[in-house]
Amino acid sequence: MESIYGMLGISPEVEAFGEKILAGLQDRFTAIDAVAEYNQAKVIGAMQKNRVSAECFAGSTGYGYNDQGREVLEKVYADCFHTEAALVRPQITCGTHALAIALSANLLPGDELLSPAGKPYDTLEEVIGIRKSPCSLAEYGVSYRQVDLLPDGGFDFENIRKAINEKTKLVTIQRSKGYQMRPTFSVSRIGELIAFVKSIKPDVICMVDNCYGEFVEKIEPSDVGADMIVGSLIKNPGGGLAPVGGYICGRQECIDRCAYRLSAPGLGQEVGASLDVMRSLYQGFFLSPTVSAGALKGAIFAANVYEKLGFAVIPNSTESRHDIIQAVELGTPERLIAFCEGIQAAAPVDSYVRPEPYAMPGYNCDVIMAAGAFVQGSSIELSADGPLRPPYSVYFQGGLTWYHAKLGILMSLQSMYEKGLVELKEM
Ligand SMILES: *Cc1c(COP(=O)(O)O)cnc(C)c1O
Repeated sequence: MESIYGMLGISPEVEAFGEKILAGLQDRFTAIDAVAEYNQAKVIGAMQKNRVSAECFAGSTGYGYNDQGREVLEKVYADCFHTEAALVRPQITCGTHALAIALSANLLPGDELLSPAGKPYDTLEEVIGIRKSPCSLAEYGVSYRQVDLLPDGGFDFENIRKAINEKTKLVTIQRSKGYQMRPTFSVSRIGELIAFVKSIKPDVICMVDNCYGEFVEKIEPSDVGADMIVGSLIKNPGGGLAPVGGYICGRQECIDRCAYRLSAPGLGQEVGASLDVMRSLYQGFFLSPTVSAGALKGAIFAANVYEKLGFAVIPNSTESRHDIIQAVELGTPERLIAFCEGIQAAAPVDSYVRPEPYAMPGYNCDVIMAAGAFVQGSSIELSADGPLRPPYSVYFQGGLTWYHAKLGILMSLQSMYEKGLVELKEM
């Protein structure tokens, strides 16, 4: 093996360091494989139950009436996630779009949206109207309330109870930490929060932003009381093959409204040509449990490598995992840039380009991003990014295979090692 990694530019010291770290991770990898095996069976079971056949891959054009592939795929998602209904479409452009549909379809003027677990993902600020925006929920007369997490990361049950009022219609809970420093919530913690909310107001709709969380555990938030779960197909459930799309799974009543909002009142799920993407949506979903498992192994490997080298990592090397994101505080701009250069150099696509920090809308400093993906912007593929400001944290995720994730992490380390930015500690 040394020679094959040597050929890709990894020095023997870096490779040996990685192998020593890996030797200590076998139990955790075995546990991840067991979850993947369980979820693989869950997906196959849903496909068998719904009699997926070659006809499902044919696709449709125009209005997309009687699109068997689209209808069966939605049943497969619904059965796999144990919900009454699902909306899974290439017309849903991204995760933010799916969340915006779920919110705007189920909230009416005078209703209130509550986020009981702190600030939602950045792109939702304009959807909700936290940052002023045309067409935001605020503009349509939907008010918003937020209860922040306690300093220890726990739910502030007392203030959540106070925040729920006669207007509260929908509660949004984000599973993954996104770009925050809080821990990601386990499905069972989400279940506790939902149970608490429903004990105060039983008819409130609980929606979970499930981005990056799919197939990381054996259960999903829809198994613990969520009325809707929402995500992107260029993250976990697309398995790297879906070229576009998003999903919303949940109670029939909620999904019917989402379909009316996505297409038009009266049309709902009956229209929406699936074009030529059905095969990749099915095949990606089929592969998703193992792809997500590979990404998870990469995240754990990275946490252990960089923690051993003395960096703060979130989650830390031993914590249990509920999404595929890893953050490493690298401390200097030089390290952040070198790390991203290594990730880029490990990519199957665009490995020859060098990422450079640049100004991005919405940030008050330059940002560096590394990605060499088959699907543009896909973050189930190996990618890394970070804002050029203290503490110079890099966030990275993905890897369609564990071996690619491993190579990426070795290359990130190689890149810093060559520039004298890290010392490989004796173990
Ligand atoms: C990625 C992400 C989103 C938004 O998805 P996009 O596809 O980028 O629009 C929302 N919430 C969380 C937690 C995410 O990770």
